Amino acid sequence: MNKTKLIKKTGIHKLFKPFYGGIGHAIMFHRVYNDNKKLITGGLQVTSDYMEQVITYYKNNDIDIVSLDEFYKRITSKEKSKRFVTFTFDDGYLDNLTHALPVFEKYDAPFSVFVCTGYIDKTAFLWWYLLEEIMFKQNCLKFCYNNQEYIFKTETEEEKRVAFGKIKTLILECTNVSDYNALMQLILKGSDVRPFELNDKLILTLEQTKKLSEHPLVTLGAHTLNHMALSAMSTEDVYTEIQGSIARLKEIIGKNIEYFAYPYGTTVEAGEREFEIAGKCNLKMAFTTQRKNISRKQSKNIFSIPRVGINPRMEVDHIDLYMSGFSVFKDSLGNLSF
Ligand SMILES: [Zn+2]
Repeated sequence: MNKTKLIKKTGIHKLFKPFYGGIGHAIMFHRVYNDNKKLITGGLQVTSDYMEQVITYYKNNDIDIVSLDEFYKRITSKEKSKRFVTFTFDDGYLDNLTHALPVFEKYDAPFSVFVCTGYIDKTAFLWWYLLEEIMFKQNCLKFCYNNQEYIFKTETEEEKRVAFGKIKTLILECTNVSDYNALMQLILKGSDVRPFELNDKLILTLEQTKKLSEHPLVTLGAHTLNHMALSAMSTEDVYTEIQGSIARLKEIIGKNIEYFAYPYGTTVEAGEREFEIAGKCNLKMAFTTQRKNISRKQSKNIFSIPRVGINPRMEVDHIDLYMSGFSVFKDSLGNLSF
């Protein structure tokens, strides 16, 4: 019997519910895709079957699956409500329309997508997929950045993971868009990978974004212009990233944008300064990726709403441990926020 099943069998997780279980949950996904061959970024996608199991879990446990509008209402209302959950997807992947939507339609369940407008406009790099593609084609990755020479062997799986982690750190430390773009050009130099072809392949087009926004089960929110770690940027640039993506998304779908998610979204990339700036952008709520349940006092922190990221390594049984607050208390999984 594995650890999750053993904990569930003992029922010990239920003891945590009054303290950490909260009143509801926000769940974060990225992609719903049925081919899971990608190595490093595999944790960003779940299959349609898995998605269905997760929805069924909530249905069977009599937890309301709600839209962001309803989620906001329940958080800000003094009335007691049934336990609830809202499903969110980050970045704006095409498979949210082609793979996720049919599953949600089947169960008549609402969901939301936080769109990075630079991905749709093909001006922002999907760096994690680009880097992965380069590493699959090359045995070595070399570049000179900020007067320092970087050489990464990328032959074995372990070497690829190490290189990916170190380059991720360099990317997340970029303080402005031009430095970030320059770093990406250095990484891409010498490879035949064309950066924005990936956006064509993986991301919603302008028309598809509008189409998705018109679906009665779907709400769209913003997710910045360039998908950078906001905490590394100047206050002015953070405002541009948040407000700029809200304005651009409004232009694309012709609707007011009331919701936002911070890229990466842990306490490292999004803190008090970012919450304050989001609070000045006429939003109703903004979401982090801090793994917690929604507390009764969440309305006091409406621009830092936590979300539990679900990845395919997590058995559906494990969700129960999160919902009870047990896993919030003792989180044993690695971070997979993008
Ligand atoms: Zn993201």
